[in-house]
Amino acid sequence: MTISYTKSLLTSAKTIEVVEAEMPETIEKDHVRLRLATASICGTDMHYFRHFANSGFYLDYPVTLGHEASAYVVDANGHSFENDQLVAINPVIECGSCPKCQSGDINMCATKRFPGSATTKPHIDGFFREYFDFPARCLRAVTPDANPEHLTFAEPLACAMHSVNRAEVKAGDKVLVTGMGPMGLLATIAAYALGAEVHATDLNAEALEAAKAVGASKGYLSGPDVDVKVPENHYDVVIEASGSPHAYNQALASVRKQGTISILSLIQPTSVPINLHLNTLKEVRSIGSILFTNEYDQAVKLIESGSVNFDAIIAGRYPISQVQEACEFMNSGKAVGKVLVQRD
Ligand SMILES: [Zn+2]
Ligand SMILES: [Zn+2]
Repeated sequence: MTISYTKSLLTSAKTIEVVEAEMPETIEKDHVRLRLATASICGTDMHYFRHFANSGFYLDYPVTLGHEASAYVVDANGHSFENDQLVAINPVIECGSCPKCQSGDINMCATKRFPGSATTKPHIDGFFREYFDFPARCLRAVTPDANPEHLTFAEPLACAMHSVNRAEVKAGDKVLVTGMGPMGLLATIAAYALGAEVHATDLNAEALEAAKAVGASKGYLSGPDVDVKVPENHYDVVIEASGSPHAYNQALASVRKQGTISILSLIQPTSVPINLHLNTLKEVRSIGSILFTNEYDQAVKLIESGSVNFDAIIAGRYPISQVQEACEFMNSGKAVGKVLVQRD
């Protein structure tokens, strides 16, 4: 049976076209055929939407964006899934055989492949489309009553959990998360789930309210016109999730002596002076974090538990035919939390 379906395609910067496509007759041996349940827009997708590139890597040709999704199994293709089984999708296709993969550091695999990304050649279409095939080993069967909208957060939540785990956050720790974009909100969730006392900063009061709905006990409004009173030399761990060099200076001031700063954001090259002397004087442990290792399964478990109010960080829902509008809403800066993409 031929499957025709709706597919969104980024054809140039700021332009998403909606096309009708057909699934190939045959499914690759290690793949499963899936139908989208829900996807969500990531900051990475937004880089491609704005520039047709991310961090200097240009797309060679139009591609379907999206790497955060849950889906239903349409054809298990001989793998051990039931038809209509709801699955969470780990988008990282690691090689599995290099020394980094062998040691479990799949995020460091040099030849890993990733959907909707310029660094994977040839590019793999992402999940902002109705049907797609994906490797069986990347799929996690979940309980049928798991919320498909919440499951789309598994990938970004895993990234946030990796940053929190790298900082060795534990119960009772005082944690400050700077920047309440989607990643900051998810880092708040991750630290709170470990039993930390979480405080949040952002330029937007509404984003701080969202942070409080998912576990922050205090929110600090920051920005050039605000007299910021975030405590100094106070936090065991600061998770930097804003990408702003000013927030990194805030982190250096707010972290306690011999505390840890975990950088979850991509702080852009900047002309703002960074107070690096504080790194030395306070013996700060400053660490980076990219993607995740075993946190994907931890994230799925936390979502399946139903204990997190992810509804508080859903900013909007759009059908596949309106991915353009969804990206524009995200680009407007008015979205608090994640923007979802769903079947028409
Ligand atoms: Zn993502
Ligand atoms: Zn590898």
